[in-house]
Amino acid sequence: MRMTAQRKQILDILKQANHPLSAEMIMNKLPEDTLNLSTIYRSLDLFFAQEIVSKSYMNHTTYYYLNQREHHHYMICINCQKMYEINCHIHHIADDIADKHGFKITHHDMTVYGYCKACQASLNL
Ligand SMILES: [Zn+2]
Ligand SMILES: [Zn+2]
Repeated sequence: MRMTAQRKQILDILKQANHPLSAEMIMNKLPEDTLNLSTIYRSLDLFFAQEIVSKSYMNHTTYYYLNQREHHHYMICINCQKMYEINCHIHHIADDIADKHGFKITHHDMTVYGYCKACQASLNL
């Protein structure tokens, strides 16, 4: 993958963020008229194909985050979209099953959805 100035801008934003970002959120963090949304999506797709980023889906929106050496997942409030980091516990579970079936794992994806404490209270859940 060629690291163009545009791609580096997007990666830098993802690096600085401490939670997953949608393409719109990335665009809003860039100076106005720097990159259009489809350019951002194209770069994010490329990063995903190269296993540089992972994705989580919520309310028809895709959120992207960097694959760090310290790999983790997210728990997301479906009301206010607050995100919490959770550690990954499925590595060796998946490895065992993959071994059994001769499956070669490239990556995995897991997101936990629900309501945070504040939203449970405000929604009377
Ligand atoms: Zn919430
Ligand atoms: Zn994991």
